[in-house]
Amino acid sequence: MNAEAADCIFCKIIAGEIPSTKVSEDEDTYVFMDINPGTRGHALVIPKRHTTDLTTIGPADLTSVVLKAQEIAKRALSSLPADGVNLINCCGAAAWQTVFHFHLHVVPRYAEDGLAVPWKPGQGGDAEVIAAAAEALRG
Ligand code: AMP
Ligand code: ZN
Repeated sequence: MNAEAADCIFCKIIAGEIPSTKVSEDEDTYVFMDINPGTRGHALVIPKRHTTDLTTIGPADLTSVVLKAQEIAKRALSSLPADGVNLINCCGAAAWQTVFHFHLHVVPRYAEDGLAVPWKPGQGGDAEVIAAAAEALRG
């Protein structure tokens, strides 16, 4: 285990050194309830192998985590039951990441849960800025 993993709260959860409300685990992933849920049933899906964020996770672990998140999302819809689900990943402190072990939030949504996206959908953006950003993303 490297130094970053040794200090990692989610690695400690996987190792059972810190308690968690486990939903499930398999060879590659661990699923547990968020301690500070945005809505009822908010769960976190993490790879067992420590990795910092979206830029460092390997393709096999990313695939395992996404597929597991899909499974949990379906179960949230059928069993809680939720009306919808958001999958959220925060990559970097500027994007609200606070725990630097890659994780997907599975956030069940309910018709009247009051959560709102932090930008204003449907407002229309500056076409030149959008085009320039697209050019930057094309690399
Ligand atoms: P993020 O801001 O995307 O890095 O999300 C980190 C999430 O981990 C937050 O939603 C926290 O509530 C959650 N969290 C932090 N510590 C624990 C813990 N010990 N058990 C369960 N969830 C935790
Ligand atoms: Zn970790």
